[in-house]
Order: sequence, then structure tokens, then C-alpha cells
Amino acid sequence: GWADIRENLRTRVGKDNYITWIEPLKLSALDDGVASFAVPTTFFGDWVSRNFADQILHQLHRSGAAVERVEFVLERNAPALPKAAARKRAPEEKEVPGAPLDGRFTFDSFVVGKPNELAHAAARRVAEGGPVTFNPLFLYGGVGLGKTHLMHAVAHELQLRQPDLRVLYLSAEQFMYRFVQALRERQVMDFKELFRSVDVLMVDDVQFIAGKESTQEEFFHTFNALVDQNKQIIISADRAPGEIKGLEERIKSRLQCGLVVDLHPTDYELRLGILQQKAEFYHTQYRDLVIAPGVLEFLAHRISTNVRVLEGALTRLFAFASLVGREITLELTQDCLADILRASDRKVTIEEIQRKVAEHFNIRLSDMIGPKRVRTIARPRQIAMYLSKQLTSRSLPDIGRRFGGRDHTTIMHGVRKIEELMTADSQLSDDLQMLKRLLQG
Ligand code: ADP
Ligand code: MG
Repeated sequence: GWADIRENLRTRVGKDNYITWIEPLKLSALDDGVASFAVPTTFFGDWVSRNFADQILHQLHRSGAAVERVEFVLERNAPALPKAAARKRAPEEKEVPGAPLDGRFTFDSFVVGKPNELAHAAARRVAEGGPVTFNPLFLYGGVGLGKTHLMHAVAHELQLRQPDLRVLYLSAEQFMYRFVQALRERQVMDFKELFRSVDVLMVDDVQFIAGKESTQEEFFHTFNALVDQNKQIIISADRAPGEIKGLEERIKSRLQCGLVVDLHPTDYELRLGILQQKAEFYHTQYRDLVIAPGVLEFLAHRISTNVRVLEGALTRLFAFASLVGREITLELTQDCLADILRASDRKVTIEEIQRKVAEHFNIRLSDMIGPKRVRTIARPRQIAMYLSKQLTSRSLPDIGRRFGGRDHTTIMHGVRKIEELMTADSQLSDDLQMLKRLLQG
């Protein structure tokens, strides 16, 4: 029976895993070749399914059970075995219709660096599940910078600490879809009741509801009802609340009431950290692959700020190298990722940087390359030099040529100057952040 199978699993998965993940599983049904296990939370089910489903299936086979598939069902929805006392479902125990969480998006797998440390700290704080201190937590930033990852991490952590907490994560698009469906099926009251009964609400990519009037209206009421009950809300968007066009003013100001933090474009160190973490993970999968020194550094330099692109590159690289059975050298990397490298090279040009910086400081584009040395012109020019060094893969002499034939030491001086100033000058560092976002948008 299951008890014996469970014992076998204990030796396979180790004691800690066993106690945490296997022991709580309840075999709730076994028919048609499907073994159903009741699990306490969706996260729990996802995790076990990702990490232990194969071993459970294997042990079931060994015990002679005719099982083709295992599935994990939320306890309150699980079909009861004939003898088991049927759990009565309380009315408020309606399933919360959230989007599934990605089991890989945890705090453990989130690499923290300067560009995301504030967002990470805020998410951590919310995940502790203490008294609500800021509501909502509003996370914003460009594509692929980790907003969704952080939200899922909070959800996982909360579910782990407080399994009874009703955490609802969904995208703004899904929110709208469900609302429209409720309208169509004349179940708006149910919809309202449902969304007002959660303990934590997370709505991803809220910019989606901009311009969608009745959805906004409903969102606004849901939002207020939850805030009134002191329930935590987490929202993400691709830009700051005030900058979302087509969003009602009252919603904007509501969204600004809590803590607004942005995820900045990744910098070199963060990209390298993420690459190292992923490479370590791949090493456990492709054990005999060797990665030459300098490859990760090269990628961190050359690939754009979007982490998704970075991950895609590494995935392809490892898959390719394992296919051809070769060491991952710089040369192989350049061959294998030629298209990605070209695309991210094209991303920001020095000319674009000069243009944007000139616009921002209200000076002439020609002054970027011209000889004027007054501060109001020289400083923006240095900023453009700094950004050229940061955002492109051009060498210093190359940058110098594009700044009216300046010497590489002049460029280096400019870059250093800005680096020096930006730590103390918060106006300057704001300007830099904003320009970076504009350029990499
Ligand atoms: P967003 O929602 O901001 O567009 P995601 O959260 O979907 O971005 O992140 C894109 C991908 O990059 C995901 O696979 C995510 O795990 C990964 N990622 C982003 N930031 C980090 C980070 N700091 N550490 C590890 N992985 C990250
Ligand atoms: Mg996202």
C-alpha cells in the first residue's frame, strides 16, 4: 500500500524532503491509471509535481500498481476515497481562481543586486506576513526585470508560512477576463464576494486595464474594499503609477498611497550574478560540460538588460554545447548566439545616447561633439560618455571618436567623473536612471 511506498521514498528523497513534501501527501483516489494525491496548497502541489512526481510514479510502478500518471489536487477539491469521511466544504472555502504560480520563482532563485535591492527588500517584508505596513506595494520596471518573479516568490513564501492564508495572484488581464465573464453570466455579486474575501491580492501588469473603463471601476472598488479590511495588495506595472496613460486619476493616486519601488535595468554585476546562478543550475543537469573562463563575463557585458533574454541565451548555449559535446568557449558562444548578440548590440547606439541626453538637458546635439567647456554643456557630455560606456560594448577610443575625435583618456576621465559624482548627487543618479530607462525601454 501507500504506506510502504512512502517508506521507500523516504530513503530516495532524504529525510528533510520526506517530512516536508512526501509525508503530508494523502492518496485520495486511484482509478483509470491515475493516482490522485491531496495537497494542502497549490504551491505544495506544484512543488511536489516538479520535484518528486517521477520518483513517486516509479515507486508506484515497483509496487505493482497500474498507474500511468500522478496528479496533485487541492485537498478541498480532491475526490474522497470511498471510506474516508467526506470533508464538508464550507461556503467560504470556494476555490480562489488565481493563476498558477511558477515553482521556480522563489526568493532563493532571485539574485539580488543594486538595481533590484529595494524591490527585493520590500517584497521580503511583505512575505513575512506581519502587520500590513505599506499598502499597496507597487513594483514597476521594464520587461524581464523580475516583477513577476518577485510576486510569485512572495506568494510561495506566504503560503509556506501560513498555509491557510488566501493568496490570490493573477494578471490584470485575467482580472478583466473574469470580470467580463461574471458580467456575462450575471454573477457579478459572486465575483465581488470572491475578490473581497482574499487575504492577499496580487495583480500583475496592471497597465493592461488602462483605458478599460468598467474593469478599472471594478478594480478600484475591489482595491478599496481590501485596503479597508487591511488586506495586503501587491501590484506590478511596466511604469510608475503616474505614468500609466488611460488610468483614472483616482486609481493612480490610490496606487501611489503605499510603497512604490522600481526595478532598475540590470547592471553588469547583477547580470553576471544571474548567469553564475543559472550556470550552476545547468551544471547539475549537464554534468560534464565545461564552461571556459570569461564566457559568463562576456555574456554579462554583451547581452541586454532583460533577464529573460539572458536566460534564453544561456539555455541555448548549454543545449547546443551538450549536443555537439564541446567545451563552451568564447568562440562557440559567439557562433551559437550570433543573432542574440547582434540584436542586443543594435539596442543602444552612441548617437541615440547623445540625442537623448541633449534633449534631457536641453542643449544642442552638436554640443555633444563640440568643444565647449562650460559646465552646463560639459557635464551632460560626460553623462553621455558614461552612458556610452555602460550601455554599449564600444571601447573607449571608439567612444572618443564619436565624441568629436576626443582622446580615450578624456572619455575615461568623463566616465570616472560621473561615477564619482553620482554616489553623492541624488539628482544626478535619478537623471541617470531615467536616461537609462529611456534608452533601454
Ligand atoms: P517581468 O515580470 O518583470 O517582465 P519576470 O519576473 O518574468 O520579469 O522575469 C523574467 C525572467 O528573468 C524570469 O525567468 C525570472 O526568473 C528571471 N529573473 C529576473 N530577475 C531575476 C533575478 N534577479 N534573479 C534571477 N532570475 C531573475
Ligand atoms: Mg511579468
